[in-house]
Amino acid sequence: MITSVEVISRVRDRQPLTEEELRFFVTGIGNGEVETHQAAAWLMAVRLNGLSRQETVWLTQAMIDSGEVVDLSSLDGITVDKHSTGGVGDTTTLILAPLVAAAGGKVAKMSGRGLGHTGGTLDKMEAAGLSVDLSSEQFLRQVSEIGVAVISQTAKLVPADGVLYSLRDVTATIDSVPLIASSVMSKKLACGAQAILLDVKYGDGAFMGDLESARELAKLMVEIGHSLGRRTKAALTSMEQPLGSSIGNALEFKEACEVLNGTSTDTPLARVSQRLAAQLLLLSDLAETSEEADRRVKELLESGAGAKKLEQLIAAQGGDPAVVAHPEKLPQAPIRHEVKLKREGYLKSLSALRLGLAALKLGAGRRRKSDPIDPAVGLTLRRRVGDKINSQDVFAVVHASKEEDVALAVTEIEQAVTLSENPVEASPEIADWVEHTG
Ligand code: URA
Ligand code: CA
Repeated sequence: MITSVEVISRVRDRQPLTEEELRFFVTGIGNGEVETHQAAAWLMAVRLNGLSRQETVWLTQAMIDSGEVVDLSSLDGITVDKHSTGGVGDTTTLILAPLVAAAGGKVAKMSGRGLGHTGGTLDKMEAAGLSVDLSSEQFLRQVSEIGVAVISQTAKLVPADGVLYSLRDVTATIDSVPLIASSVMSKKLACGAQAILLDVKYGDGAFMGDLESARELAKLMVEIGHSLGRRTKAALTSMEQPLGSSIGNALEFKEACEVLNGTSTDTPLARVSQRLAAQLLLLSDLAETSEEADRRVKELLESGAGAKKLEQLIAAQGGDPAVVAHPEKLPQAPIRHEVKLKREGYLKSLSALRLGLAALKLGAGRRRKSDPIDPAVGLTLRRRVGDKINSQDVFAVVHASKEEDVALAVTEIEQAVTLSENPVEASPEIADWVEHTG
């Protein structure tokens, strides 16, 4: 008979675990046979000694089996999902999901809420008046009818992750590659899509501080997806600066509308969304070559088909589709404060972490899961890394609901900025791609 103490000892002593031992442990966490303090000790052993790729795959499968899974098999075509490890000012999902659906793809996406300095797609959708709590029947019907639905993940999926994640949070075991990979992938795989596109962030404010550790995480997640029968690919993207120029829920929704309605073109957000959308077309077999995929995506933007699909998505989930053509209808904050930097130089970096914290202080985000958020507040940035900064130019605009929040946000913005005397070149928006290799 397997015992909890044995499973903990094996990881402590760097001995391999079997599939049965991992399953026993994960099941035990759910049914109380493994005590909380034992789970905590095991997490620390994993944090210190790691798990092999095979053990991580078994762990992921056992976590998936701890709860319900979504069955998308009634949908025609290849279902796709996309996941970001937590960005700031990153609204790609709201752009690429309609584009892929407009190309005939089936985007069945379950999403999360923002926490701390990072934003969440669901909060942006709710800021625009959409409902995100659909039943599984409604979800399936909507994907079948219009090709796209983005809804909240239910607590019935991967309950073991809920337990493990909250324990990791209080035992200093969040930053473990196998634990992050199994946590993210168990939830994605339980959502049922056949193809998964991951956006793994690196840098200041990301789980992975540098490109090489982000690559290690991405490789492991791609291999888990592949081992468990899904087409999986990952982009490695920098958090050297926020991707879009808006941070805040309605502001980010507005920026997504502007990319799709043609007001905002050739921005980093527009470019990255198009490249991710093209990858999803390839993963869905809707394009054979990257050139063809890029061309399709460009056509869908230029013809307005992407904007039309976003209108359908909004209408299907109870919002007002007129916001796509008229984003000024979205909630707006009463106070707009223009920020000028009292310094000059070339913008060297623009900490996504600090700017996310500025938005959090304005009420755009939540510190704890239960905090309410203010849909209208946030920031808009007028400059990007590499730009020349003049002290009289407006650098950013703070959108606030309360006068007293403005100064807090301005301080964070000032601390987010690093200037250089010499010209600076921004990093590429997508540093690299990771896919399964034989
Ligand atoms: N996101 C998750 O869902 N789990 C992790 O462990 C880290 C990020
Ligand atoms: Ca026991």
